[in-house]
Amino acid sequence: MRKQIVAGNWKLNNDLAQTETLITSLKAQVKTSAAEVMIAPTATNLWHAYNSTKGSGIEVIAQNMHFAENGAYTGEISASMLKSVGINTVILGHSERREYFNETDETLAKKVDAALAKGMRVIFCFGEELADRKSGNEETVVGNQIKNALFHLKSADFQNIVLAYEPVWAIGTGETASPEQAQDMHAFIRKTLADAYGNDVADEVSILYGGSVKPANAEEIFSKPDVDGGLIGGASLNAEDFFAIVNAF
Ligand code: PEP
Repeated sequence: MRKQIVAGNWKLNNDLAQTETLITSLKAQVKTSAAEVMIAPTATNLWHAYNSTKGSGIEVIAQNMHFAENGAYTGEISASMLKSVGINTVILGHSERREYFNETDETLAKKVDAALAKGMRVIFCFGEELADRKSGNEETVVGNQIKNALFHLKSADFQNIVLAYEPVWAIGTGETASPEQAQDMHAFIRKTLADAYGNDVADEVSILYGGSVKPANAEEIFSKPDVDGGLIGGASLNAEDFFAIVNAF
């Protein structure tokens, strides 16, 4: 059975003291949940967050990594470095990385390969822009993003891939895809996977929705059959809101 996951993407927020404060609040809220719970603090706080959350049931994950193992890539972090501080899951392809840091399908394919080669799990993000949706091209755009970055993988690799559909027009805007829009796209994504890798693979890959998920809309979005959880930005910075979303399962 595929996993239900709620992951908080903290983005460029929370210094060390704020990280500790938020983790303390999160630990006070954790209950047994049907969903796996993850948080993605900024890179400088991963080691501290990993140690602070040990045994709590919250997994600490990274927001990004480079494809190279080491070398002349000033400012970058490798899969091995993440693993060395206890991190086994990484978000790749977030729309902010694509937009502000010029990440392309090609570089993302290399990053995915590098993470999987180290035995890491990848939360792979993609999604259409508003203009794509207005022109009715959302499925073509999303299909190409998935195929270009992932369809060189072997079936077995998908055991370590989680997909996160995040329409760019809904990220941090307060605007959410309707539960029906999310379900339609998730069903399309699962069919795209099934066409390439068969139903057994497609049925096992968790597909998260991201884009202004809040306590008020989480339950309806998560009730859709092909929505297996959420990637949460803004609402993950508040422990009560984040766990209200986790508990929506
Ligand atoms: C995100 O950054 O992945 C995200 C979905 O942000 P928000 O929930 O704030 O829209």
